[in-house]
Amino acid sequence: MSGRAQLMWDEAVTGYDFGPEHPMDPVRLALTRRLVDAFGLDRDMEVVAAKPAGESTLRLVHRDDYIEAVKTASVEPGAADQSYGLGTVDDPAFAGMHDVSAMIAGQSVGAAEAVWRGEASHAVNFAGGLHHAMPGGASGFCIYNDASLAIARLLELGAERVAYIDVDVHHGDGVQAAFWEDPRVLTISLHEHPRTLFPQTGWPEETGAADAEGSAVNVALPAGTGDAGWLRAFHAVVPELIADFRPQVLVTQHGADTHFEDPLAHLAVSLDAQRAVQVACHDLAHEYADGKWVALGGGGYAVVEVVPRSWTHLVGIAAGRPIEPTAMIPESWRQEVFARTRQLAPARMTDGRWPVSWADWEAGYDPGDRLDQAVLAARRAAFPLRGLLP
Ligand SMILES: [Zn+2]
Repeated sequence: MSGRAQLMWDEAVTGYDFGPEHPMDPVRLALTRRLVDAFGLDRDMEVVAAKPAGESTLRLVHRDDYIEAVKTASVEPGAADQSYGLGTVDDPAFAGMHDVSAMIAGQSVGAAEAVWRGEASHAVNFAGGLHHAMPGGASGFCIYNDASLAIARLLELGAERVAYIDVDVHHGDGVQAAFWEDPRVLTISLHEHPRTLFPQTGWPEETGAADAEGSAVNVALPAGTGDAGWLRAFHAVVPELIADFRPQVLVTQHGADTHFEDPLAHLAVSLDAQRAVQVACHDLAHEYADGKWVALGGGGYAVVEVVPRSWTHLVGIAAGRPIEPTAMIPESWRQEVFARTRQLAPARMTDGRWPVSWADWEAGYDPGDRLDQAVLAARRAAFPLRGLLP
């Protein structure tokens, strides 16, 4: 019998701040944490502050020279080495950058340890999901790749099969790269097509190295994909792979930037569909991974309107007390939002698209439809490598 769900949180994670001009405003983390409390979810789970990831842990994924470069930039931001992606427009250096990045990574590693050891049924670190960081460099607002580090720690603890599902609007390139040659880790990423979005990778043909063929799966969705298409693609690809792979642990990344209000990308997904995928991931963990589920945040730049609601749903699902889409948002939170941001907060936990429906892949597909072409490309490239029908 595993323990209650854990919410990983140390207030210090809100120090992950690239500055006032940067879209990744840490107010999104603070507002999410407050909304979780406003719904009383903190009483349904253990709130745990794990220790920051130490150097031996960071080295499970990151190169020594890169860690040194982050530490140098952390002490003297002006000396950031751009050849490591540090001190760039996407990843400006700031004082204390190493420490807060290691703190976020530590929460994901702690989540993985608690779930693996059965101390927690599920664990959520919505400050994590920094999936673009590479073994040897910063990228796309990500310094240390907490998702990769959590998976690497699971392998170190003896896991033989870990599945990673990434539904951020951007390709989960850093995680794919970290385990490109490792058949013990199945990475599945659904994202906007690389033709129209950073990081311009995540083509269906990216399926893993020679000794790990079929261990990477990429669903490259056309710009403009909405709820029905997004859910259709998820259900046409993900459950079959998970059922076949039988992971011992499921790690999922829930970037909220698929949303139609997100300013940095071009999918048109609602909060209601995001919640439906969160529920589906939870169900998959129970069905195939003995309930062992590590859920992470990720991107999301509609920092008031979308991110806090999306990740509060995620926390509620993990806590075993899912919040109804029709729920009204507590007035105390809305007042805090206005005080902190001078923006009006949403009133409900829905975008009014509930219940979301989609057409089942098994019932047939249209080879002339762009969404179906994206699904077909993913299946044709990866499924046969896993012994599955395309
Ligand atoms: Zn993203």
